[in-house]
Amino acid sequence: LKPELLAMLACPACETRPPLTLEGDCLICSRCLRAYPIVDGIPQLIVEAALTQDPTAGAQKEPTG
Ligand SMILES: [Zn+2]
Repeated sequence: LKPELLAMLACPACETRPPLTLEGDCLICSRCLRAYPIVDGIPQLIVEAALTQDPTAGAQKEPTG
């Protein structure tokens, strides 16, 4: 992915066009922290396709009893 192309891309979930950071095979939005996967060199800038990093998702309750 070329830097100039990366600069043109914007997170569809954020209106302020925060910069996207290339992280492995994903583009990370610096604002909402969504991770957009890159498939065959094409960034999938779709909110539904994004991997969200929900801090509450990792909360696990240990079974009692
Ligand atoms: Zn965003």
